[in-house]
Amino acid sequence: MPTPINADPAELEKFSRLAHRWWDTQGEFRPLHEINPLRLEWIERHTPLAGRDALDVGCGGGILAEAMARRGACVAGIDLAEKPLRVAQLHLLESRLEVRYELATAEKYAGAHAGAFDVVTCMEMLEHVPDPASAVAACARLLRPGGHAFFSTINRNPKAYLFAVIGAEYVLKVLPKGTHDYARFIRPSELAQWCRAAGLREVDLIGMTYNPLTQRYRLGRDCDVNYLLCCQRDA
Ligand code: SAH
Repeated sequence: MPTPINADPAELEKFSRLAHRWWDTQGEFRPLHEINPLRLEWIERHTPLAGRDALDVGCGGGILAEAMARRGACVAGIDLAEKPLRVAQLHLLESRLEVRYELATAEKYAGAHAGAFDVVTCMEMLEHVPDPASAVAACARLLRPGGHAFFSTINRNPKAYLFAVIGAEYVLKVLPKGTHDYARFIRPSELAQWCRAAGLREVDLIGMTYNPLTQRYRLGRDCDVNYLLCCQRDA
């Protein structure tokens, strides 16, 4: 029996429907544009990107993938939604950067590219996937020994529900309604456990908060809602 694909078609459809808006910095994906410099700087705090092989899992329209390429990394990007990938491919004409895009799950890609990357990023994706632990394990397999994985997702608690769903989708409307499903949110302890089970060592856990008054995101100690986790594969 073939292994079922670790993906939710309804989730992929959500991202495909909005794909043409991916690079509109004032549109539905504005939050991704705004957090991008923060996460990029945080990645480079842990490992240099120039000259490294990097893979962006769940790359969407390529916001992070392109930013890593601009920093001199040799970048590949995978996603399972066709339209965002097409947008990502087209955007390379404008940015004049090089990224190798492919339609694949992390699990499938790991079959052909195990141990091929110094850096694997998987941001704002795990909370859209049926079996996030399997995606984390695939990210680990894609890394060279000593390589770094960077995950970001949303915590699961009443405050996260209030801020990430009610606040972001209904009050501030910085995200379209239905973007996030609370039941799929992930506690940092759960993510850390999946990482350990996959042979990854936790290096840094950092929170990301949004201030609706200044309309700015920042990284800090508060992991109650959005957070990022850096891990290293055992050498
Ligand atoms: N990581 C990007 C995009 C986040 S949006 C960024 O942070 O800028 C979430 C992306 O995950 C979408 O592009 C969606 O198509 C993708 N995705 C959802 N489920 C997936 C799966 N099972 N495998 C690969 N990509 C998936």
